[in-house]
Formats: sequence, structure tokens, C-alpha cells
Amino acid sequence: MLADLSRVLFHESTILSRLDEMSHQITWDYRDKELTVVAVLNGSFVFLGDLLRRIPIPLHVDCLSVSSYSGHRSTGVVTFDQTSMPEIAGRHVLVLDDILDGGFTLHAVRERLLQLQPASLKIGVLLRKNRPREMPVEADYVGFDIADEFVVGYGLDFMEHYRNLPLIGVLSEEVIQQGMDALKNKPAPGAPVAP
Ligand code: 5GP
Ligand code: MG
Repeated sequence: MLADLSRVLFHESTILSRLDEMSHQITWDYRDKELTVVAVLNGSFVFLGDLLRRIPIPLHVDCLSVSSYSGHRSTGVVTFDQTSMPEIAGRHVLVLDDILDGGFTLHAVRERLLQLQPASLKIGVLLRKNRPREMPVEADYVGFDIADEFVVGYGLDFMEHYRNLPLIGVLSEEVIQQGMDALKNKPAPGAPVAP
């Protein structure tokens, strides 16, 4: 998997020391509140596990399954893949996601959760891309600011691969291109299979 990267951005030890800092801040900010974490799956699951184990205050965890990406581009159409929403009325909510890119996902998640009338709502992301947001949303806690490049590892995927890489790296253009070509040549679901 490492050979598919054009470069490594953050090794595991760098990520974990940044999570130490983020978790101290979050622990302090929520020290006298009842915290409910709402994690945006799938990309945030590694970040979630490592961050939450560093936050030594009582908290609830709920997960939302949301998708807006196809291959390496955000489609802008955000789909919520579960039937029920978490019960967050009157609660102090911290939404955690892997990366803030165009802002479609977190904007949609925030709007949807605000309808449920939490006492407060903040957003934490491991990565924030340095590019104009397509939707007006910002993060309150940010692990690292990165350039506008497609990254994988530490939970982030490309076509469901690389989530288990323990570091974060930039996927090479060549691998992205091969993946996109494979996607184009894949028969549409339900299409007749050639004999
Ligand atoms: P947005 O909705 O902000 O445009 O995109 C956010 C979602 O797209 C993230 O939660 C993440 O799942 C996915 N995403 C955005 N940028 C990247 C990237 O560089 N690499 C990967 N693997 N996923 C990304
Ligand atoms: Mg995501």
C-alpha cells in the first residue's frame, strides 16, 4: 500500500501527539458538560477510537453513516444511510469527521442535527483542506491543515482501500487514474453480464 503513495504526510506518532493536544482541549471545554459525540462514518472510525480513548470524561457516542464521495471527488449529494437519527435534544454535541473538504458533508450533518435541538453543537475534524468551502461550515477543532490533495490512510479510503494504513499519505495521481478508469469500465448495477 505504501508504494501507492506519492508521499507520507503524517506518521502515526505525529498523529497521536496531535490527538493528545486535541483531546486535552476537548476535555477542558466539556469538563462540566454532558458530552455526546456524533461520529460521521466510515472515514472517522480510526480517528474516533484514538481520540475518544484520550478523553477521560463521561460521554455518549452515536454514529451517523453518511456518504458524499464517489472515487476521489465529492458528489455534493449527501446521503444519510441510517433509518433513525441519534437522540441529542438538549445535549452538548461534538460532531467528529475525518476531513473537512468542500463542506457538503458537515454542512448537511450540522443542519440535520440542529433540527433535533441540541444544547450546543461543535465540529471536530482530523484534517482540514486548504481550499474554498462550497458550503458555509467551519470546524471548531482541527488536527492538521493540509493542501488540496487526495489523502488516504488512518481511516480514509480510496474506493474502500487504504483505511488500515496507520499513517496519512497523498495517493499518487497514477493510482487515482487507474482506479477511476476501473470505475468507468465497471458495468452498471443490474446491467446484463457478457456471456
Ligand atoms: P465534503 O463533503 O467536505 O466535500 O467531503 C468530506 C468527505 O469526503 C469526508 O468526510 C471524506 O469522507 C471525503 N473526503 C474528502 N476529501 C478526501 C480525501 O482527500 N481523501 C479521502 N479518502 N476522502 C476524502
Ligand atoms: Mg467522511
